[in-house]
Amino acid sequence: MQELHDAPLAPLTTLRLGGPARRLVEATTDDEVVETVRAADRGGVPLLIVGGGSNLVIGDQGFDGTVLRIATTGFELDGTDLTLAAGEVWTDAVAHTVEAGLAGIECLAGIPGSAGATPIQNVGAYGQEVSSTITEVTAYDRRAEETVVLTNAECAFSYRHSRFKADPDRYVVLRVGFRLEDANGQSAPVRYAEVARSLGVGQGERVELALAREKVLELRAGKGMVLDPADHDTWSAGSFFTNPVLEPGQYEAFLARVHDRLGPESAPPAYPAADGRTKTSAAWLIDRAGFTKGYGTGPARISTKHTLALTNRGAAKTEDLLTLAREVRDGVREAFGVELVNEPVMVGVAL
Ligand SMILES: Cc1cc2nc3c(=O)[nH]c(=O)nc-3n(C[C@H](O)[C@H](O)[C@H](O)COP(=O)(O)OP(=O)(O)OC[C@H]3O[C@@H](n4cnc5c(N)ncnc54)[C@H](O)[C@@H]3O)c2cc1C
Repeated sequence: MQELHDAPLAPLTTLRLGGPARRLVEATTDDEVVETVRAADRGGVPLLIVGGGSNLVIGDQGFDGTVLRIATTGFELDGTDLTLAAGEVWTDAVAHTVEAGLAGIECLAGIPGSAGATPIQNVGAYGQEVSSTITEVTAYDRRAEETVVLTNAECAFSYRHSRFKADPDRYVVLRVGFRLEDANGQSAPVRYAEVARSLGVGQGERVELALAREKVLELRAGKGMVLDPADHDTWSAGSFFTNPVLEPGQYEAFLARVHDRLGPESAPPAYPAADGRTKTSAAWLIDRAGFTKGYGTGPARISTKHTLALTNRGAAKTEDLLTLAREVRDGVREAFGVELVNEPVMVGVAL
């Protein structure tokens, strides 16, 4: 188990932001993970779990406690059942399942970070979410001080949310189990219009498995959503805001604001969500509020390839990123009366 003191956290995050950790521990086995967590909890020491650091905004003051980086390994296939150790690199695991001819997570290719973090915010993209394939999550329950196995239903997955995100200091994910599909080398039905269109098939059709993965990677790269150290557009935490889900009354009021501001012809993206609510697009709102691609003059700017990604152009501090995020959030609220909510986890800071 590796241990460092007063260690910079910025290099552990895809934003390359954040001050030092009082203590940084890297664990490569489940026992090391559990030992470190238990010792911190019993000693009353604040604890931060880090996987790939791709969904974290850490304050410039750093973290006054123990930061545990999970670097466990394990990729086990048994028929169509896959078990991944929390520290496995997610996008590599996706590539291996595609090579093995198994469908179900191919459209989640290119998402940075660790397998263990995927259940936290129910990672999703291009028509797939891990909640559709996860069978169970093995986690260390910090309250009960024991290892537990949670079924898919017990994980309480919803859009970019789960039991783990709702109760952030309780569970440390150790392993994630998935059930994939052997569709004779074919992908799962392609759900996302942009992917289907660019593959030349109808929504709901299947394509060759490897082709689906490659197409998603190509589309993501065009939006700066595949990590590339040389490209500052990818120095981000992915989408900075979640897509707002509006109650029927809120949606009517929002539509009226849109028509007032942009004219009666204007139609914002609208997708039916649970309980009669409507999901609209954060990227659309940000763009129409005047924050277009490349917006900003400081060291933190909107990506030149994707309106939803707030990026570090190389010399930013966390405070620069937050100033930009607040400007965007407030501008959208003023223009459309909709409150944007951040997707990445904030450590020692708030919007
Ligand atoms: C370029 C880019 C593109 C992205 N695209 C997408 C996308 O398309 N869809 C999407 O959903 N997300 C996307 N993201 C966000 C991010 O990649 C995912 O949320 C990812 O799952 C985070 O994994 P991580 O290991 O980096 O987590 P970290 O950033 O290290 O941690 C995130 C949170 O999870 C907690 N955590 C991490 N591991 C564990 C564990 N084992 N047990 C308990 N808690 C844990 C951390 O404490 C923290 O609260 C993108 C990010 C970037 C930078």
